[in-house]
Amino acid sequence: RCLQLNSVSRVCSAPIEGDSSQNIRLLQWNILSQTLGQHNDGFVRCPEEALDWQHRKYLIVQEILQNQPDVICLQEVDHFKFLQTVLGSQNYAGIFFPKPDSPCLYIEQNNGPDGCAIFYKRDKLQLMGYDTRVLEVWRVQSNQVAIAARLQLKASGREFCVCTTHLKARHGALLAKLRNEQGRDLMRFVKQFAGETPLLLCGDFNAEPIEPIYATILGCDLFKLGSAYADVKLEREQILQHSEDVNEFVSQSIKREPPYTTWKIREEGEECHTIDYVFYTPDHLKIKNCLEFPAGEEIGKNRTPSYRYPSDHFSLVCDFELLDGPPPTS
Ligand code: NDP
Ligand code: CA
Repeated sequence: RCLQLNSVSRVCSAPIEGDSSQNIRLLQWNILSQTLGQHNDGFVRCPEEALDWQHRKYLIVQEILQNQPDVICLQEVDHFKFLQTVLGSQNYAGIFFPKPDSPCLYIEQNNGPDGCAIFYKRDKLQLMGYDTRVLEVWRVQSNQVAIAARLQLKASGREFCVCTTHLKARHGALLAKLRNEQGRDLMRFVKQFAGETPLLLCGDFNAEPIEPIYATILGCDLFKLGSAYADVKLEREQILQHSEDVNEFVSQSIKREPPYTTWKIREEGEECHTIDYVFYTPDHLKIKNCLEFPAGEEIGKNRTPSYRYPSDHFSLVCDFELLDGPPPTS
């Protein structure tokens, strides 16, 4: 996974240039729940041993650490204690919020519920507060969750918020509608938490860019948001045109999303599509680099998960620069 995109190699090991107190590297990844991956997903082309936790856990940790992210947003975490221990030894602290009725719990050999997690680098960032939410659909709690955290860059005192989620899976018009409602609730939750603070909003939205939720997020009147992977090659002026014609911006943004963030083969066939995103507030943050995904040949004909790729989703890694803004209030 060493492809180039905007001069950052697939493994973002080198620290980014410039004033590191304004730079934020985010890693977003659905790591594939151990219980679901092994006993529920039906990855028919993946060797059983590749799904073994003893094999996967090192690959997951390696992929995270080699990128040296400042903030890590994960979904389908059902080994939080393990990650907390390992990442804890590497200067990260984390928050976990499980799904209220995780499908993992219905499988005999489970390791507890799966959920979302946010980790942050302790030496660079200070956690100022966080909130969690069970997302509501038509005012009824669903089985999907979100975490929002307020982080302060220790060197500058400046703050930003990070929010991550994992929306309802599966295809169909009704489910797309349900995801859209979850998205609307998510936006209300994150607005209440973050206010005017610079925001990174990422996760496994289980929705391709053409689904209503994508336009709901980018066209939301509570925030002006862009999608990092769609915007990375644009000039700043083009991104800021957003406010002039939102519908046009959304349709252009859809076209610029990467071709896939997940690629797997189940009994029903091959699934290769874009459903994971990193959204951000372009008024406050500049997207500098996005880590590209491996090409088809590199992934191999059996797709993922595999001996090489421990999850059916690829990690998204983004370098942001916090743009000049008002000084910290304290
Ligand atoms: P979701 O529909 O959101 O999906 C759960 C998991 O299944 C996700 O991690 C998803 O991965 C994965 N998934 C997606 N597509 C497939 C597929 N085609 N085959 C296998 N796995 C897939 O789950 P919910 O949170 O809504 O939970 C389902 C509900 O079902 C729970 O509320 C629980 O009560 C119930 N349940 C009941 C069981 C029982 O025995 N009574 C057993 C299991 C669940 P990704 O997001 O990566 O696509
Ligand atoms: Ca999954």
